[in-house]
Formats: sequence, structure tokens, C-alpha cells
Amino acid sequence: MKLYRIKKSNIDKKGRGLYATQDIKAGTKIIYYVGKLITKKQTEESDKYDNGKPIYLFTINKRYDLDGDFQWNTAGLINHSCNNNCDYDGKGLKIWVKAIKDIKKGEEFTCDYGFGYDYNYKQFPCKCKSKNCCGYIVRSESRWRINKKFSMSNKNKLINNSR
Ligand SMILES: [Zn+2]
Repeated sequence: MKLYRIKKSNIDKKGRGLYATQDIKAGTKIIYYVGKLITKKQTEESDKYDNGKPIYLFTINKRYDLDGDFQWNTAGLINHSCNNNCDYDGKGLKIWVKAIKDIKKGEEFTCDYGFGYDYNYKQFPCKCKSKNCCGYIVRSESRWRINKKFSMSNKNKLINNSR
């Protein structure tokens, strides 16, 4: 039985999230984060990673990134929270989401997206409503960092285009 089901998110009102279908113990592997392996060179050269929209890119190692920006990557639906109950873990070229706390049936899974401060973090307000919410989606600490990549060269353009 799957440990998750897809439902409208409580955090991202416009989006969906993943919810626990049963009580889950800390340390449980919940879902693989799947995508396409790409080389750092491809990341740098392709327009896809340079268009200003949030892109889920994981650093796998010095040579490879994992692009999880695909509809079939169900784990990509997991929302960020400043009080996350899951985190990304991995080995070799594989990444998965695992529970870092005991999670009750019906709770929404959340991760730490780990955005760096160097990105234009004010574009990403956090609505997780945790007591410790800092108001923006920025990194606390996580082993596997999502570099939601934004073109630094287009930074000014992005600021002008944002509401
Ligand atoms: Zn928050």
C-alpha cells in the first residue's frame, strides 16, 4: 500500500500535496524523488534551467544534477515547511523522501526545500503557518539541497515582472 495520497494542499492553496495514508514512523522511506540525470554542463547550457520559473534541481555530485521537474515525479508535489516532517535523503544517484518525525495518518508531508539566500528568496513567501515560520522559503539545513535555479543574469527582469 502506498504511504501517500495526493490531495489539495493545506500549505499551497493553489496546489496539491501528499498526505500520509497511515501512521508513519520516523526514518520511513516514503517515496522516491525521480527525474532525469543531467550533467552540470547541461544545466548551465540549457534554456530550461534559465527561464526564471522554479525548477527542482538536486545536486547529486560534482558532475550530475537531478531534474525533478516532471509531472511523473509525484514527490515533486511535496510542499516546503519551516517545520518539515520529511527530508530528502539519498545514496548514489537515488534520492528519496523520508520521514524525520513520526507522522500521523492524514498529515501532509513537508520537506525543507533548502533554497539558498543568494537566490531572490522574497519571491517565495512561505505559508506553512508553523510557529517557527520565517516567512520565506529559505534553507535551514539539509544534506541534499534543491537548487531551485534562477537565472542570476535575469534577476532584474524577474524582479520587475513579479507582482
Ligand atoms: Zn514557513
